[in-house]
Amino acid sequence: MPQLPCQGCRGMCCGPVPITESELKRIRKYVRGMPLPARSKLEGQLRFFGTCIFYDQDQDKCGIHPARPAVCRAFGLHRNLVCFRMPEAASGEAWAAGEPSVGVLSADFVWNDFK
Ligand code: SF4
Ligand code: SF4
Repeated sequence: MPQLPCQGCRGMCCGPVPITESELKRIRKYVRGMPLPARSKLEGQLRFFGTCIFYDQDQDKCGIHPARPAVCRAFGLHRNLVCFRMPEAASGEAWAAGEPSVGVLSADFVWNDFK
């Protein structure tokens, strides 16, 4: 699998993403399991409007990486989810969600929905 040059992007592709019911539950469980100081620190970070609520500005990475949604895992590797910094990493195959979306993370689901 090609390695995307994400370091230094500072969450450029981390915007509102659709999530499924099972992802919502998994993220909630993960966030609730975070040590409170780390969770509060992540929540309190200032972000650009439109940046994902879980993007970790301080560490330049996803703040819920082990529990991130499938669309985030697939990003950059499919022809309908092309990374503009490394378009050659996208395969000819289109990505499709396995389950219907229940809403959009950062728009329909915000920090209070994960506490
Ligand atoms: S997938 Fe592409 S745009 Fe997104 S952080 Fe990685 S290199 Fe940057
Ligand atoms: S869940 Fe993580 S990888 Fe997905 S958009 Fe948010 S910060 Fe980025």
